Amino acid sequence: MVSEKTRIDEDTCFVGIGVSPGIAIGEVFFLSRAREPGVSRPIPADRVAAEIALFREAVALSKKQLLEAKGRIIDKRMHKHLFIIDAHLLILDDKMFLNDTVARIRDEQLNAEGAVKSTLKKFQKLFDSIQDEYLRDRKADLDSVGDRLIRNLRGEAIRSVTEIREKTILAAHDLSPADAMQIDRDRVFGVIADQGGRTSHTAILARSLGIPAVFGLGNFSSLVPNGVAVIIDGGSGMVIVNPSDATFKEYLAKKQALEYSEIQLARFRDLPTVTTDGQRIRLRANIEFPLETAAALRQGAEGVGLYRTEIMFLGRNTLPDEEDQLRELREVVAGMAPHPVIIRTLDIGGEKILPELSPHREANPAMGLRAVRFSLRETALFKCQLRAILRASHYGRAAVMFPMISSLPEVRACRSCLEEAMAELRQEGIPFDPGIPVGVMVEIPAAVMIADLLAAEADFFSVGTNDLIQYGLAVDRGNQSVAYLYQPLHPAVLRMLRQIARCSRQAGIAAAVCGEMAGDPLYAPVLIGLGFEELSMNAHSIPVVKRVIRDFSLREVQELAAALERFETAEKSREFLEQEMRRRFPDLFEIFRM
Ligand code: PEP
Ligand code: MG
Repeated sequence: MVSEKTRIDEDTCFVGIGVSPGIAIGEVFFLSRAREPGVSRPIPADRVAAEIALFREAVALSKKQLLEAKGRIIDKRMHKHLFIIDAHLLILDDKMFLNDTVARIRDEQLNAEGAVKSTLKKFQKLFDSIQDEYLRDRKADLDSVGDRLIRNLRGEAIRSVTEIREKTILAAHDLSPADAMQIDRDRVFGVIADQGGRTSHTAILARSLGIPAVFGLGNFSSLVPNGVAVIIDGGSGMVIVNPSDATFKEYLAKKQALEYSEIQLARFRDLPTVTTDGQRIRLRANIEFPLETAAALRQGAEGVGLYRTEIMFLGRNTLPDEEDQLRELREVVAGMAPHPVIIRTLDIGGEKILPELSPHREANPAMGLRAVRFSLRETALFKCQLRAILRASHYGRAAVMFPMISSLPEVRACRSCLEEAMAELRQEGIPFDPGIPVGVMVEIPAAVMIADLLAAEADFFSVGTNDLIQYGLAVDRGNQSVAYLYQPLHPAVLRMLRQIARCSRQAGIAAAVCGEMAGDPLYAPVLIGLGFEELSMNAHSIPVVKRVIRDFSLREVQELAAALERFETAEKSREFLEQEMRRRFPDLFEIFRM
């Protein structure tokens, strides 16, 4: 166990996942540490009633703590996130969860802690089978509730973020969203945690608060004592404990440079994204939650280029109905008006939503019943989503976009579902935009090969480079062992991108890129040079991408793209591009490690 006297060597580095960019320096304050695992032990029959009562008390206490946390949220930006605490309260009210646990205490004669542990295990197994990073991170909500319950069963004091009096770096084993929401930005410079990933709720909250954060640090909380100085780099995911003078100075300079450049970049927010010779480019935001709309606008987004709707289907016991979906979609569409919002239909497989909808686990889910393949199988569900999207289109400018299209019949089938939904709404007298644009995501090599055919039946293309690179180069986008092969500048990728842009231009439809490549200041000019006029990205990247684009003429980016296409390997292209960007943007290159 770590004690306050534990000594840590100078410049000890931990590498986690950078989930919210920025550098923070300060002393660490542990809200929680990894706890001993739940202990399962058998109990005598006459203890059963008492253990059930203990369990119910722990549930009641956990609910009370969460409700109190809700009342303590001072940051107004956090009010929109309250539903996350509600999601935790829902788990504590979930009949299956409660009855399952009580049944284990009674029937298996297990202690309450052991019973909670096995119920959680059963629920977690369901989540573990999920391939999608975003959905897998929803498991964190369950873990967070389980952790609270077990700590309460043990009578452990649960520290609250509101105890923080000093300016500090907040650390935890697993920072719950309820904790994150109570953060006072004037006191907390940065956040670190053993658990969590980029798409956990807490990570999203840290990003929307603008606090640097690194998660997924493993056993950090078991090794580091309270009060030690740490440096966190939310961009690279690096945490340096007990920094030496030299490291401290180096990061202080980096932090100042980053802050200075952010202030400089802020000047670009209200300027148009235009090349030096007048070519207008649209920069839009990728979002997952309605509450990200305001932050996207603040960063200068001219609309939402990718609204990943998967979130609506998570953290709940039942599928969202049309009204639930409409509420969320309308908030984004109305909030963004007059800018457009491109709503992507569900991009997950059946087993990721409700097990009963897709009882068979797939051996290769990335190539399985995903995205429109799933939607076209579950047409009632699909129609319900399309009706909600159509209804939301009445409140601003919405577009609908179909993911993972690999053939023309798929586009036609999706369109015919959309037309059915339109006919129903018309008959019911419910208003919608009858001219709603229909887009196709180009993210499968087959779609690139038939881009001319698809372009004839789509109103716009949006290229999902994350999947296009994955499928084009046969490199699993989440597999570290083959990460070195994941090369956005591979000649095959450049040729695919060129072909998509060419086909869309010939068909007279808009061509956008919404994969991670679009938000990388290194690649953005190349994409423009290849012929794309819209880029959609994490809102935080908009100012820096805008600054870079405004420095080039259209001719220059076209020459740059053409030069890259002449190289035979990704390595050579990258070397050339880095050299060129370093020459043009020496300041940005160092700071953003383009
Ligand atoms: C992509 O594949 O590039 C994309 C934008 O979609 P997602 O990352 O959600 O698969
Ligand atoms: Mg994709």
